[in-house]
Amino acid sequence: GTERAAVRLDGVDHAYGGVTALHGVDLTIPQGGVVGVVGANGAGKSTLGRILHGTLPPSRGKRAAAQGLRTALVPEGRALFKTLSLKENLEVAAYAAGIKGADLKARLAETAEWLPPRLRDRMGMAAAGLSGGEQQILAIARALMAQPDLLIVDEPALGLSPAMVDEVYARLGRLAREGMTVVLLEQSLGRAASACHEVVVLHEGGIAVRGEPGDPMFLARAEQAYFDGQ
Ligand code: ATP
Repeated sequence: GTERAAVRLDGVDHAYGGVTALHGVDLTIPQGGVVGVVGANGAGKSTLGRILHGTLPPSRGKRAAAQGLRTALVPEGRALFKTLSLKENLEVAAYAAGIKGADLKARLAETAEWLPPRLRDRMGMAAAGLSGGEQQILAIARALMAQPDLLIVDEPALGLSPAMVDEVYARLGRLAREGMTVVLLEQSLGRAASACHEVVVLHEGGIAVRGEPGDPMFLARAEQAYFDGQ
């Protein structure tokens, strides 16, 4: 198509030692919107996420990103520093992104503004004291410190209550409406279908189908592919 790509993968394979995690993946992530990558345990979602992020070089094939694209990844399990405060978690991310001084102050203020008030009011508290959903929101905020154009979020719903899943997804949807490109790695086809503009089903390391969740034919094929790879 003529759509502008945030990132594109061409013939990507990835293996960990002898274990093939991805094979023959061709995938374009357009700029703007939410793309869901759906698959069962071990389908290769996290591997695909890290390759899209650019931190894991594929064993084979190519990754091409738009010029100047800034990417951030919220890893599965969040990887927060639980004994550090909310503010310190954000500062560590800023430090890693090379943000200092007045810029750091401005980024912290902006990110704090993005947080729900109940977190904004507890910036000095240890991250361990937050609920799972609140920790997920903090992990997303931490990724926002680097002002990404492309945000990849690995299974944010894991272990959250349905209400918290809704809140996290509403926030990701808002970021997309503000122009960010979001890739959501998801185990649940239903959740991805309701949150994403486009869904890619990954089965045993390959893309089985791709389509728009508004299309009932696509949903039927996606469900089939999720389980059978067809
Ligand atoms: P999950 O939902 O369980 O995280 P996933 O869809 O994210 O699964 P990946 O984590 O990408 O899938 O894993 C794909 C395959 O690669 C699996 O067979 C997994 O066991 C294997 N794998 C992933 N990471 C490694 C690693 N560091 N070393 C060896 N094998 C790995």
